[in-house]
Amino acid sequence: MIRAYKFLMRPTVGQAQALGEMLRDHCSLYNGALQERRDAYRHVSKTSIRYGMQSAQLKDIRAFDPERQGRWSFSSQQATLRRLDKAFAAFFRRVKSGETPGYPRFRGVNWFDTVEFPKDGDGCRWDSTPHDPQTRVRFQGVGHVKVNQHRPVAGKVKTVSVKREGKRWYVVLTAEQAQPEPFPPTGSVVGIDLGIATFLADSNGGFVPNPRHGRTAAAKLEAAQQALARCRRRGNRRRKAVAKVADLHRKVRRQRLDHAHKTALGLVRAHDFVAHEDLKIRNMSKAPAPKPDPDQPGAFLPNGAAAKAGLNKSINDAGWGVFLTILHAKAESAGREVIAVDPRNTSRTCPRPECGHVAAENRPTQEKFHCQSCGHTAHADTVGAINVLRAGLARRNANQA
Ligand SMILES: [Zn+2]
Repeated sequence: MIRAYKFLMRPTVGQAQALGEMLRDHCSLYNGALQERRDAYRHVSKTSIRYGMQSAQLKDIRAFDPERQGRWSFSSQQATLRRLDKAFAAFFRRVKSGETPGYPRFRGVNWFDTVEFPKDGDGCRWDSTPHDPQTRVRFQGVGHVKVNQHRPVAGKVKTVSVKREGKRWYVVLTAEQAQPEPFPPTGSVVGIDLGIATFLADSNGGFVPNPRHGRTAAAKLEAAQQALARCRRRGNRRRKAVAKVADLHRKVRRQRLDHAHKTALGLVRAHDFVAHEDLKIRNMSKAPAPKPDPDQPGAFLPNGAAAKAGLNKSINDAGWGVFLTILHAKAESAGREVIAVDPRNTSRTCPRPECGHVAAENRPTQEKFHCQSCGHTAHADTVGAINVLRAGLARRNANQA
């Protein structure tokens, strides 16, 4: 399975200039090769020139023009000659079938916007600084260019292309991903409840803690942000503080991603079916309740915890969203089923099948569940996960019916 990825590049001024020169020189190579084919075609002998003949000249062209053509990757130049060859092949195919196509045209430098590298590692290197959290791609004659890698690349990178769109530069990758083997069925089903104190609770009574270093990193990040706020507008100190904050942000993000991958893989390996709460519905139904002011009917007291809770909530939401995206992707490639269910009442319904009593009083504290009808007690998050599983299985049965 071949997948394509497109990422924005953030070249330095010098690199952007080099990229522009790379396009310019590939464009002139393309046009020069086109000219040669034209001249030969118009000659009385009606010679047709093939890719192999043009490619064989590359060595001399590069040696003759070391400042320009000699500067770029040989393979990328071959790819450009191949593009011209394809244009001609299409032209002759249409001529043969009786059409009157336009002869392949010269490209203006502004219309030539792509350079291809047929093989990663040959004139280019994806992820050229693997030990740095900042992703880079290296191009011969340009250097290591920063990349905004907004999603992971799965599989082995095959081809790499540079593409210019307006003033922006992109790197386009194709990667080959082995067809994933579905995991063997386990006969097991599970419900999960995403939480704050622990990352998640499952319906079997298990808990997955939050990322281990998460809290330390978050504290460091807060300190770094405060230090940044104290800096003057310009200067070295500020630049360093900005870099530090960005660095810690990346670190936190990386740890969270890593943790999410491990947790999702564990669930998908162990269970055929996973039910989780629908976060969109949950966010709507769990908005913090305003406190009515007893002295002034109709007015509300400022909700003291709201500001801090809001921040924590947004951090958690982001983490959960990432986790669920990964969970769904892993489940799909492993042939597992994941269902999102309406989370309302999952934490206040008694999980004992013969009871099922629903009451807010069933949950006296954040952690405790105590059924007011049958006396059943359990960890509240485990109860939530059990009810999520039950709702998920009901939905699955309804879908299958
Ligand atoms: Zn009960």
